[in-house]
Amino acid sequence: MSKKTLKEITILGQVIEPGKSYQIKIDIARLHTRTKIEVPVIITRAKKDGPCVLLSAGIHGNEVNGVEIVRQMVSNKFNIPDAGMIICVPVLNVFGFLIKKRQFPDGKDLNRFFPGSKSGSLASKFAYVFMNEIVVHADYCIDYHTGGDDRFNYSQVRISNDDADTLKLAQVFGAKFIKYSSHREKSYREAATGLGKKVLLFEGGKSLDLDRQVTHSGITGALNVLDYLGVKQFPKNYDSYKERAKQVVFEDSIWVRAKYSGMYRSVIRNGAKITKGDIIGLITDPYGFFERKVKASKTGYIICLNHSPIVNQGDAIAHIAITPTSKNKV
Ligand SMILES: [Zn+2]
Repeated sequence: MSKKTLKEITILGQVIEPGKSYQIKIDIARLHTRTKIEVPVIITRAKKDGPCVLLSAGIHGNEVNGVEIVRQMVSNKFNIPDAGMIICVPVLNVFGFLIKKRQFPDGKDLNRFFPGSKSGSLASKFAYVFMNEIVVHADYCIDYHTGGDDRFNYSQVRISNDDADTLKLAQVFGAKFIKYSSHREKSYREAATGLGKKVLLFEGGKSLDLDRQVTHSGITGALNVLDYLGVKQFPKNYDSYKERAKQVVFEDSIWVRAKYSGMYRSVIRNGAKITKGDIIGLITDPYGFFERKVKASKTGYIICLNHSPIVNQGDAIAHIAITPTSKNKV
């Protein structure tokens, strides 16, 4: 077979040659101290043509677990493709990461400013550069998130429910739960999907926390997808991790909220199947007089638990996935 000439790719002014790796930086802005802030982008291109997969994390600066997932992809050299290209952006919101906060320094949530604009706020400008310089080259995007604050998400992938290819990818990824969820307006997922990219949004763990099981599930998922797309063969020493959990696809979910303020302790395992009326936790006072049971309001699966030891009335305590019986025989 004659050797096909690969297309020329230039990212942020750098020509990306086949068979080479690059670490380039998105130079966004300076801190008020005039310290330059840069977002490293790690690009590896195979000699063979193939799809481009973009792995990103830290769009919310305090969602450290995703950063660890992408970091390990790079440090284990799982980002070196057999075909196509892999782009890794471990920390999208470096500002937030520096100060362990979800937002940009101006208080804006980067994930509400896509696709961004050339002359908008800092978040908007950054979204614009990221979309036009990086995302535009990708065919598939996996974006890693965690639960907000103390809310610990069981590993799950979120996709829109109108695309069979994305569902297939989510199944290949292998996380136990697949949630159909509509796009949040002006989110990265909405903007990238609008450009025709296939996007998986991973949710696992909680903010400012590293969890080995979640990290593992995020890495294994990326490896499964890369293998399926022919971008990178599943590493041999990872074979034992290839086994997939029995997956649950769901659309509807409901939060169980605290009816009382108090100390809270959970008595249920995250990811567990529960029946309406099951006790999922206890709210007490600190003195030994007051104790109330918190019960599951629906039958389904626990997909998120609040790990906070103290709750206020109305706080979200547990998230229950309600499985549509037509789509799942569980
Ligand atoms: Zn997030």
